[in-house]
Amino acid sequence: MGSDTGKESGKDTAKKKRGPGRRAVLLGGGAAVLGTAVVAREDLARLWWRLPWMDKPRTDGELDHKAAEWTAAHQANWRRADRPDDYPVDRVVIHVVQGSYASALKVFRNPLHQAATHYVVRKDGHVAQMVRELDVAFHAGNRKMNERSIGIEHEGFVDRPEDFTAEMYAGSARLTADICRRYRMPVDREHVIGHVEVEGTDHTDPGPHWDWDRYMELVRRERAKLPA
Ligand SMILES: [Zn+2]
Repeated sequence: MGSDTGKESGKDTAKKKRGPGRRAVLLGGGAAVLGTAVVAREDLARLWWRLPWMDKPRTDGELDHKAAEWTAAHQANWRRADRPDDYPVDRVVIHVVQGSYASALKVFRNPLHQAATHYVVRKDGHVAQMVRELDVAFHAGNRKMNERSIGIEHEGFVDRPEDFTAEMYAGSARLTADICRRYRMPVDREHVIGHVEVEGTDHTDPGPHWDWDRYMELVRRERAKLPA
């Protein structure tokens, strides 16, 4: 589960590193800007949100994974960002709630919890999205991993293999395949990892009963159905 109290909630000193090349064109020396006025105007129309004082346009309730249902986590449990422009996204982190789907939604809405994942998958395969993928959710207990990853919680307990239903694996695999497609991430165990594999963590989820071979095969199959 994503209970990483304190590790992400402190001062935000991480340097943002978004598209210096592009910004140099837009905001660089006068001669360069004038010389490429037409291109710059087109870029500006398309890339205005990359300017330092702008955020990407965002609509409350907008989904990144179309099959999900939006239900917002509390803002204290994530940090506003502009991924993948400020931080490239190249990891999916698999968690198990150690509780029910409802309990995960409840704690992620609690401002005191100081943790949330982007998604929560229910035993029947239903997916809730709680944090936009643009933003950094506090789920891995490791700032760098949070910045580069998308976190997925799964209803159930690590010591109850019967909690990991076929429907849950299937819904989660469709989600992970969609994420891998959108960020051009290879479907392998280097990019799709368990919370237990995050450097410095003391969490053990998804635990020994999570069937990685079965899950990765499902993700590969779902990925093959999607456009390149
Ligand atoms: Zn976890």
